[in-house]
Amino acid sequence: MEILHISAECYPVAKAGGLGDVVGALPKYQNKLGHVARVVMPMYRTKFLHDNEWDVDFKGHHRLGPRSFDYTIIKERHNKLGFDLYLVDIYGLLDREKIYGYDDDVDRFAAFQIAVVDWLRHWQFKPDVVHCHDHQAGLVPFMMKYCYDFNYALSGVKSIITIHNAQYQGWIGWDKSFYIPNYDNWKHGMLEWQNSINSLASGIKCADKVTTVSPSYLEELRHAANGLENLFEYEKGKSVGILNGIDNEVWDPATDTYITHQYSIEDFAEGKAANKKVLCDQFNLDETKPLIVFIGRLVGEKAADILPDSILASIYSTQKDVCFLILGSGEPDVEWRINNLTAQFPGNYNAVIGYNEKLSHQMYAGADFLIMPSRVEPCGLNQMYALRYGTVPMVRSTGGLRDTVVDMGDEGGYGIRFIHASVGDVIHSVHRAVEVFKQPEVLNAMRTRMMEIDNSWDNSAQHYIDVYQSL
Ligand code: ADP
Repeated sequence: MEILHISAECYPVAKAGGLGDVVGALPKYQNKLGHVARVVMPMYRTKFLHDNEWDVDFKGHHRLGPRSFDYTIIKERHNKLGFDLYLVDIYGLLDREKIYGYDDDVDRFAAFQIAVVDWLRHWQFKPDVVHCHDHQAGLVPFMMKYCYDFNYALSGVKSIITIHNAQYQGWIGWDKSFYIPNYDNWKHGMLEWQNSINSLASGIKCADKVTTVSPSYLEELRHAANGLENLFEYEKGKSVGILNGIDNEVWDPATDTYITHQYSIEDFAEGKAANKKVLCDQFNLDETKPLIVFIGRLVGEKAADILPDSILASIYSTQKDVCFLILGSGEPDVEWRINNLTAQFPGNYNAVIGYNEKLSHQMYAGADFLIMPSRVEPCGLNQMYALRYGTVPMVRSTGGLRDTVVDMGDEGGYGIRFIHASVGDVIHSVHRAVEVFKQPEVLNAMRTRMMEIDNSWDNSAQHYIDVYQSL
């Protein structure tokens, strides 16, 4: 089959979170299965753009409301990522360093989607399936079906949308409805949810299939979906939850060049200890104590706001028998509180505010435990990376965390699970971690079990193919 993935992120071109990891890996694994998967994304001004060679594939123009814009599609020359990668350049809109966070994001991603669909109707390869990711590609199924400029040429192409995070929906006021190229007015309900154009809701209504990044998340969305609960209930017949995989080639402690000491399941005890020492030296932490890390966006969804109080109480209640290291960025008040604690507990606590891919790998390798108290976790990749690196995940039992982590108290378990995103539950889990750390044989047996688990895309990539084929 021929598949075109449309996304705002793709690792290593541009990544803000799990979406980037998924789109950077899934197409590669689909190609390995004998299909042809390609990716199209905006041409941000990132390092990857400057470090690689490109050919112009197509030049076109269209309108965003009254404004006409030119766009250029370029293609990476050497198939470096294991799939064909296309970037869309739109002068004045997509030529930025960051992915999101600009005042005109609505205009940027509307123009991106229009350019992609316009290119598609001219393109030499007609994909069998267009695979849209999150709300930044959510209007594509509508445009393919109901916009007069495109629907004739694209009528045979199926579409699916994958929801990586339903909190963000791409709301557009009706005052900007003229951004959408001329469409069948009887269908305006297919754009709408609760009195605004809602890109994600439109994708869910118009795509031929809807997938979420874990089975549990699909269940949860029927009850908590930031206003879209009824829509998920209504569309459940065409929805399916497929657990994300991880890219075992990128995330492999035996070959990972981001970490200082490579190791495998054969020698993880020495390997992890050496990586831990590097981290502890760098961040002034006591390497003899259990090291718990957090890596991620410092936002309410990740329950980052409860981390400062949980850490403070855990350090006191264990009589300083535990260390914490935090890496992340997000809400300014949470960043401030996380940073502020560093002065209070030298030797037991440190934090880096920012995004740092290399450091994140060193942390997966050097930590003993990785904590994720998330309120919402559609799939979560961190816990799967932790498992691969022999680091015990401590997770709230929700979404994909529930689907991937078995508590160490259960038969064959290898993680620590807790129920509430609360300070009390985190402290209790920290005490469990401190206890198990005192029993190296138990801990190492658990590490062996977790490193044997195969969470790679090999399985899930085939699930997506099955979904496409069902169309
Ligand atoms: P999200 O909801 O943010 O997409 P996921 O668990 O699906 O969460 O994916 C998070 C990805 O982003 C992981 O690869 C994680 O290592 C990475 N990540 C998050 N924050 C940072 C950071 N500050 N520095 C480096 N990597 C980060």
